[in-house]
Amino acid sequence: MPTRSQTKSTAAFERARKVTPGGVNSPARAFGAVGGSPLFVARADGPHLYDVDGNKFLDYIGSWGPMILGHCHPKVVDAVLAAVRNGSSYGAPCELETELAELVVEAIPSVEMVRFVSSGTEATMSAIRLARGFTGRDLIVKFAGCYHGHVDSLLVSAGSSALTHGVPNSPGVPRGCTDDTLVLRFNDVAALKELFAARGDKIAGVILEPVVGNMGLVPPSAEFRTELRRLTQHHGALLIYDEVMTGFRLAYGGAQELLGDTPDITALGKIIGGGYPVGAYGGRADVMKKIMPAGPVFQAGTLSGNPVAMAAGIATLKELQASPPYQRFDALGARLEAGLRKAAADAGVPHQFNRIGSMWTLFFTPTPVTDFDTAKTADTKRFGRFFWEMMDRGVYLPCSQFEAAFLCAPMTEAHIDETIAAARDALKAIAAG
Ligand SMILES: *Cc1c(COP(=O)(O)O)cnc(C)c1O
Repeated sequence: MPTRSQTKSTAAFERARKVTPGGVNSPARAFGAVGGSPLFVARADGPHLYDVDGNKFLDYIGSWGPMILGHCHPKVVDAVLAAVRNGSSYGAPCELETELAELVVEAIPSVEMVRFVSSGTEATMSAIRLARGFTGRDLIVKFAGCYHGHVDSLLVSAGSSALTHGVPNSPGVPRGCTDDTLVLRFNDVAALKELFAARGDKIAGVILEPVVGNMGLVPPSAEFRTELRRLTQHHGALLIYDEVMTGFRLAYGGAQELLGDTPDITALGKIIGGGYPVGAYGGRADVMKKIMPAGPVFQAGTLSGNPVAMAAGIATLKELQASPPYQRFDALGARLEAGLRKAAADAGVPHQFNRIGSMWTLFFTPTPVTDFDTAKTADTKRFGRFFWEMMDRGVYLPCSQFEAAFLCAPMTEAHIDETIAAARDALKAIAAG
C-alpha cells in the first residue's frame, strides 16, 4: 500500500478539537462515518486538494458540490478579487444581485423571481415558510433520506412506514417543531396518493430533492414525479424542489431541466455561490410576491446578496454557459461507472452504481437502491475500508456511504482512469478481507 503520512493533519485535528466541537464546523467533515481523523486542507487547485502533510488528492467532494468548475477557476478568482476591491458588503442593493438573479431566472423557467440568502439551509427554511404563508396551511411533506439543511422542522427521520409524523432526529428540536412535518418514503407513489387523499387540503407544500444526493445518489421514478406534480396541483399545495445540490449540476437548469419538471418553488445553493456562501429560493411570481417587502412573509439577511459572493456566482454561471461541461460529465461519468462496475465485479464485491451525469454513488449492497431503506442495506463498514484504501491511493471520496460524489470540469479521462485503477486495487484489498 502506498505510504501516506497524516501526522500534521492529525495534530491540526487535535488542536481544533480543543476549541471547536468535534474539531470541525460541519459534522460530515469529521469522518465519523468512516473512522479515523480527517485531512486538514492546505490548498486546492483544479480537481486536486493538497493536505497539510503535502499529500495530493483527486477531489470527488468539491466542497460537497459547489466546485463544479474545480478549485480556483481563474475567472471566478478574478471576479472575486475585483469585487473585493469595491467593498465587501454594503447593506444596500447593488447591481450584482440583479445580474445573478437575471441569470437564475433565465436558466430555470419555473423561477420567475428569486431571493438570495446565505446558505442552502436558509433557502429551504424560507421556501417552506413561503409555502405556508402563501397557502395558509401548515403541513409540509418530506421524504425519508432527503436532506434539506439543518432547518428544525425538516430535521426529522421516519421509519419506512408511510404516513408517520416526523420525529426530531436531533436533541434541541422540540416535538412541536416537527408536528407539522409528514415523512414519506421516496419513490412511494401509493403512500403519496393515500396521504393526499386523507389530508390534501391541509398540505402547504411537498419538499424533495428531485434527484436525491443525500442518501447517496437515488433517482426518482417517472411515476413518482408525475404524481407529485398532479397531486400538489390538484390539492393546491406547492411543489418545492430542493435543488441546492442538483441546480446547475445535472444540467444548467438543474434536475428540473433534465427531467422536464415544473415545480412551484426551487431552493438553490452550492454552485450558485461559486464556492462562497450563497443560497437562493425562487419560483412563480405570484408566490414570490408574498415575500416581504413585496408581501407579508418575513425573511431577511444582513449578508444576503453579498457582492463578493454574487460576483463568484455570476462568474461561475457565465463560465457554465460559455463552456457547458454537462455532455463531457456524462461521458466521463459513464467511463467511471463502467470501470468501477467491472472492478467491483472482478473483485466479487456486491454493489450498485447509481449515477446521473456528474453525480454518483457506489453502494456496497446487492439490493437496488431506490429509497432510504434500500440505501441502508449497504455495508457501511466495507465502505469505510474502501474510503481509506482510496485515500491511500490519492482519491478523496465523500466520507460516507450516503453521500453523492461529484465530477468537476477540469477532470479528464486520465483522472477517471487513475480513479478506476485505484479502485481496482482498493476493491481487491477489501475483498481479500
Ligand atoms: C447541502 C444541501 C442543503 C443545505 O445547504 P447548506 O448550504 O449546507 O445549508 C440543503 N439541501 C440540499 C439538497 C443539500 O444538498
